[in-house]
Amino acid sequence: MEVKGEIYRVSGPVVTAEGIAPRMYDVVLVGHEKLMGEVIGLDGDRTVIQVYEDTSGIQPGEPVENTGASLSVELGPGLLRSIYDGIQRPLPVLQEKMGDYIQRGVTAPGLDHDAEWDFVPTAKKGDEVSGGAVLGTVQETKTIVHKILLPPLVSGKIKTLKKGKYTIDDPIGSLEDGTELKLMHKWPVRVPRPFTVKHPPSIPLITGTRILDGLFPLAKGGTAAIPGGFGTGKTVTQQTLAKWSDAQVVVYVGCGERGNEMTEVLTEFPRLKDPKTGGPLMDRTVLIANTSNMPVAAREASVYTGITLAEYYRDQGYDVALMADSTSRWAEAMREISSRLEEMPGEEGYPAYLAARLSEFYERAGRVEALSGEDGSVTVIGAVSPAGGDFSEPVTQNTLRIVKVFWALDSKLAQRRHFPAINWLTSYSLYNRVLGDWYSENASANWSENIATAMAVLQEEAELQEIVQLIGSDALPEDQQLTLEIARLLREFYLQQNAFHDVDTYCKIEVQAEFLDVILHFRTLAEKALATGVGVPELTSIGVLEELGRAKYEENFSELLPKLRKQIEKEVAELMEAD
Ligand code: ADP
Repeated sequence: MEVKGEIYRVSGPVVTAEGIAPRMYDVVLVGHEKLMGEVIGLDGDRTVIQVYEDTSGIQPGEPVENTGASLSVELGPGLLRSIYDGIQRPLPVLQEKMGDYIQRGVTAPGLDHDAEWDFVPTAKKGDEVSGGAVLGTVQETKTIVHKILLPPLVSGKIKTLKKGKYTIDDPIGSLEDGTELKLMHKWPVRVPRPFTVKHPPSIPLITGTRILDGLFPLAKGGTAAIPGGFGTGKTVTQQTLAKWSDAQVVVYVGCGERGNEMTEVLTEFPRLKDPKTGGPLMDRTVLIANTSNMPVAAREASVYTGITLAEYYRDQGYDVALMADSTSRWAEAMREISSRLEEMPGEEGYPAYLAARLSEFYERAGRVEALSGEDGSVTVIGAVSPAGGDFSEPVTQNTLRIVKVFWALDSKLAQRRHFPAINWLTSYSLYNRVLGDWYSENASANWSENIATAMAVLQEEAELQEIVQLIGSDALPEDQQLTLEIARLLREFYLQQNAFHDVDTYCKIEVQAEFLDVILHFRTLAEKALATGVGVPELTSIGVLEELGRAKYEENFSELLPKLRKQIEKEVAELMEAD
């Protein structure tokens, strides 16, 4: 279906056309150069279009063509290792076609249509298959086996299914009704991919970062927000999660503030090593990049493109982590388009539907039983960059209402070089209880209890600090002085974790549990010793504590912990005897 009309008005990325009678979200080609756009409003005979490319110089009267299709992505082998713009055009291919400065009207398919893939069928002739079923596999990269899925809305009986080397355009078989089967299918980005059931969030996404797994855990299929003031560790945290979290596939959607920020991601990410394989992290990553010189409409779309790719790997039975960095830039794109549409602005000029859009996006996260019968998940981690670190602005506030985990990066902690600079007083996780049960079952029986104790000590420290600032710590009673010392151990030993240290960057959950337990064991012993008259300075200057602080950098940390526990018992007992 192709209907031609013409441009009536141009306002930045928003173009109004007449005479094309489309449906909402149809893709249209605008002007002589056939710039790609999407219908975002219908107003009588007029159609409002957001255009994904620079519209300068485009004139009223130029032709507009409706393709009748929705904005869709190509799904099939070859997604991993790709770097795309917001509408799935591969950046390296664009660069080849038009050099460093992106010109207009250049199209390039999302997948490589020439590459051949070795297809191994798992379904066979005569099988009744329904939407989303697995037809077979392709080894996409060294570690990821790509499951070839029947498109979600197709079903039937397999007539033929061939083994061998095919491109994504070759037929690999057919259904009885004549439907051709291929290695790829398309899916509209604004429509969530269907699944059978959504599971409750009961399994953690393990990160190996102590403050995240312990104090503010994130569930597989859950949602988290991370505010990213400059220099607070947003990039390091995201890269650590991409490398170490137990998600097999990573989709990273970058919306750069300044051009060079995105350039950094584009040069840095492909250099990252996957610690689990030693190979490039890109082998299980898709990057979507919006540099600041790309039009805002493409940025608006990029988030949907990203989550659709994530859902596609979820449907193959993978745990996927989607990082959107930053959702503030995405919201700004919405704001700019909304103002071009002359819509009634809401808070700070953002459109009234900001909250609805944010929640529609985060709602696409989840751990599900896919149509294929496999369990998979999409975990969404959205960075927020509030101007001036002001968390009261609308994007942060609306995000906080939706997400279940908030990792508040704190510039004061970063200045003190306490990393990860996640503020333990203002961060939270609403998965704490359910995941606490999981950790108690799978990591250590007293996990939840110990975490609660650690949090209580840290909170008490914060309250005591106010008094200390007035009158100094010496004036405090001894048990409170001890609390301050235990809090210091928790902060400096347990919470601080160096992402750049080979050993410390990842801490196994059993080791995390034991580490915390040893610190709290010291607390229990010290409280007893205090009651028998041993002083706080003696208790906190026992030599083993220094060893405990250094041990986390040792390869054999897990073996050292039981020894350190014994040593603590011994040294505290000696103090009590001497007393
Ligand atoms: P942002 O992306 O928020 O601007 P970065 O992630 O680039 O900030 O972090 C800034 C600097 O902080 C890093 O270069 C590094 O020196 C330090 N840093 C952040 N997080 C950690 C961490 N977990 N361990 C060690 N250093 C860190």
